[in-house]
Amino acid sequence: MTQIYSTSEASQSPNSARRNDDLLVVEDLKKYFPVKGGILRRTVAQVKAVDGVSFTIKRGETLGLVGESGCGKSTTGRTVLRLLNATEGKVNFEGKDVLKASNREMKALRRDMQIVFQDPYASLDPRIIVGESIAEGLKIHGIGNASEQRDRVREVMLKVGLRPELTRRFPHEFSGGQRQRIGIARALIMEPKLIVCDEPVSALDVSIQSQVLNLLKQLQRELGLTYLFIAHNLSVVEHISDRVGVMYLGKMAELATRDELFRNPMHPYTKALMSAIPIPDPTVRRERIILQGDVPSPLNPPSGCRFHPRCWLAKEICKEVDPPFEEKVPAHWVACHFAGEF
Ligand code: SF4
Repeated sequence: MTQIYSTSEASQSPNSARRNDDLLVVEDLKKYFPVKGGILRRTVAQVKAVDGVSFTIKRGETLGLVGESGCGKSTTGRTVLRLLNATEGKVNFEGKDVLKASNREMKALRRDMQIVFQDPYASLDPRIIVGESIAEGLKIHGIGNASEQRDRVREVMLKVGLRPELTRRFPHEFSGGQRQRIGIARALIMEPKLIVCDEPVSALDVSIQSQVLNLLKQLQRELGLTYLFIAHNLSVVEHISDRVGVMYLGKMAELATRDELFRNPMHPYTKALMSAIPIPDPTVRRERIILQGDVPSPLNPPSGCRFHPRCWLAKEICKEVDPPFEEKVPAHWVACHFAGEF
């Protein structure tokens, strides 16, 4: 791994240790949603859904992004793809500035950056046969003639484990797992480099989840894909990720390689999430940490450390000072005043 930044910069952000093979570099990304009020519908407040998130993903890598509902992980994924306009920050894909790209440049970038949604049924038009749905990207981008598009659809269906003779069926004729395979085929047909997987297995039965996860891993091996994999379930993220970022209330709480994070969680929030993962061995017991209350509103986040109202380790400083996101051990970043001290 080649470091292109000096060691003195390395403590400032996870991007300080940027690698030459990074496909995606996200720097201090912010996405605020204005709240309008009054007769003139002026902006009276901001919902800080994503509030200064930085990370990199190298080619062929999977970065898992995990956290409770409302932590900003899906908004991060959609803002990276510019499906939502960022408020501030930088998104660099293969050296190209995504947030400043013109419409023409963005059209080209969209071929390389695809998304798989949580609910494949909602993302498929029920009146359109799946072959047409899968081919949609090719048609939008004017790739190939009708016969070539049909061949490509059949090829991609085979790749995701669907029988090509089913191209003329409608979405309701497929099971949930098959519909998610159709969603993956829609992304794959554009031969992307990066796929944002936005909770792709959350709506599926557990038995089907592992099939879809294994398919994603197999496709990554075969096609050299890079994933930003978003989930609220740490065990799902553990299964597929090389590195994992834990988000809380619009900010990154912890970021490390998967093995390091699961062996040595340093943020109390990560510890709490991990304590909820079931252990398959009935003789092994783990103390469950039950977090009190819900995630506070991003409209009015708590002062200091945003986790302090729910943190059983909070001290006075936590209420006043926002902990910096620091590299506590090599390549392991944490935002906690007392990281690893408990
Ligand atoms: Fe808990 Fe304080 Fe660490 Fe925040 S900074 S996670 S409140 S110990």
